[in-house]
Amino acid sequence: MTEALKKSMYDLIVETSTKLPKDVRRAIAAAKAKENAGTRAAMSLATITNNIKMADENISPICQDTGMPTFKIKTPVGVNQIEIKKAIYWAIEEATKDGKLRPNSVDSLTGANSGDNLGAGTPVIKFEQWENDYIDARLILKGGGCENKNIQYSLPCELEGLGRAGRDLDGIRKCVMHSVYQAQGQGCSAGVIGVGIGGDRTTGYELAKEQLFRSLDDENSNEQLKELEEYVMENANKLGIGTMGFGGETTLLGCKVGVINRIPASFFVSVAYNCWAYRRLGIKINAATGDVTEWLYQEGEEIDFSEQAEQAEDKVANKTREVVLQAPITEEQIRELKVGDVVTINGMMYTGRDAIHKHLTTNDAPVDLDGQIIYHCGPVMLKDDAGNWKVAAAGPTTSIREEPYQGDIMKKFGIRAVIGKGGMGPKTLAALQEHGGVYLNAIGGAAQYYADCIKSVEGVDLMQFGIPEAMWHLKVEGFTAVVTMDSHGNSLHADVDKSSLEKLEQFKEPVFK
Ligand code: SF4
Repeated sequence: MTEALKKSMYDLIVETSTKLPKDVRRAIAAAKAKENAGTRAAMSLATITNNIKMADENISPICQDTGMPTFKIKTPVGVNQIEIKKAIYWAIEEATKDGKLRPNSVDSLTGANSGDNLGAGTPVIKFEQWENDYIDARLILKGGGCENKNIQYSLPCELEGLGRAGRDLDGIRKCVMHSVYQAQGQGCSAGVIGVGIGGDRTTGYELAKEQLFRSLDDENSNEQLKELEEYVMENANKLGIGTMGFGGETTLLGCKVGVINRIPASFFVSVAYNCWAYRRLGIKINAATGDVTEWLYQEGEEIDFSEQAEQAEDKVANKTREVVLQAPITEEQIRELKVGDVVTINGMMYTGRDAIHKHLTTNDAPVDLDGQIIYHCGPVMLKDDAGNWKVAAAGPTTSIREEPYQGDIMKKFGIRAVIGKGGMGPKTLAALQEHGGVYLNAIGGAAQYYADCIKSVEGVDLMQFGIPEAMWHLKVEGFTAVVTMDSHGNSLHADVDKSSLEKLEQFKEPVFK
């Protein structure tokens, strides 16, 4: 069955990376319907739905961060799990070569990228035996931006805005509400949370992640947990964090809670936060032939976003200015920008992630960055038949990781704008004010939408850091982002954090007895 099994695993990976499941589409469509036209949240959701449609059409990754591939596989007794592992390794390598997965496996000590998504601990494969006669294989691709917003609470504990969380259902409720607050927009909200109650530190997180394999439409069979899920869905959306943390009606698309036993001394509540690019699918495989017999998560209506033809350019009408920028940008131009302005960029920008930022602190830049724009992005790149680089997916990555370096680098090289997602902290905000710079928030996960704005790859430097970490020179047209931190000391991220903390305080009082 090896060839058929290899193909089944390859198809599972490609479909998961490029096609959002039906239940997630419905949740995003419902979120979109709730936002008022013309708001930043509405514009973000229009970009997201456009992006989903483009990924469908191009069979390309929905988001450039194809995450940590995690397989959950149930096999009948007697099936050779080693053969399944080999088929998965082969499929992962092929999907990476074909640009359906970004090379994401790096040596934790040296940072060296294995280039094929294989390496110690990657991919994650979990086997279980069962008494059915077919193989059930499920895959989740969960990116780093949202993985970094996972959180684990050890009860009892004190929570900002909520006070003491005790060892009871009400304490659990407080932890879950807090987990949504602490994620803000950094995990590419609106998100889905999987919650694991109990276990130890390891099994608690495993249980939380396992909840993300549930359908968004299912009902918890445990009455108490069902009530908790409904409570969180209703109230977390009152925090006003919204899509990308821009403020808005929908912060959460789903909440799924599971429980396992613990030892008396420990009481953990573990939360796995997943972004809107909630990529998980599954297949049933004929154990004798290796062929797919059924695709999972196929229930209900399929939303075709191409029928909802609103453009992402459905700007924040009447509320913001729209400004066109082309590098090199002057300090004067930057100082005119204010939080909330929508910026359209034409011309050059340069990618830079963790390795580049660290490198630039002690080295010269390979190009003149005076007046230029840095894009926090680790793209999926492919070579065409003529050997030229093409961008397969290129959305923004989480910017806060560059907080220790960003301000100094902007000042050192004269960089005027950085684009990323999730916002940055006080050190960068102070540098923007002092030096004359802006932070532009692009829509996290909109990798196809932004790839389409990239008209050519003009060069690349520092390839020794691997494809996602290299400095790509990109020529763009009509690349849209929102000013969320300006040179006057304003930060939309700080404002939304403050207002959502105030709203969180209303959930302090006990709800579950
Ligand atoms: S949508 Fe955002 S959090 Fe999710 S994988 Fe993409 S960049 Fe990461």
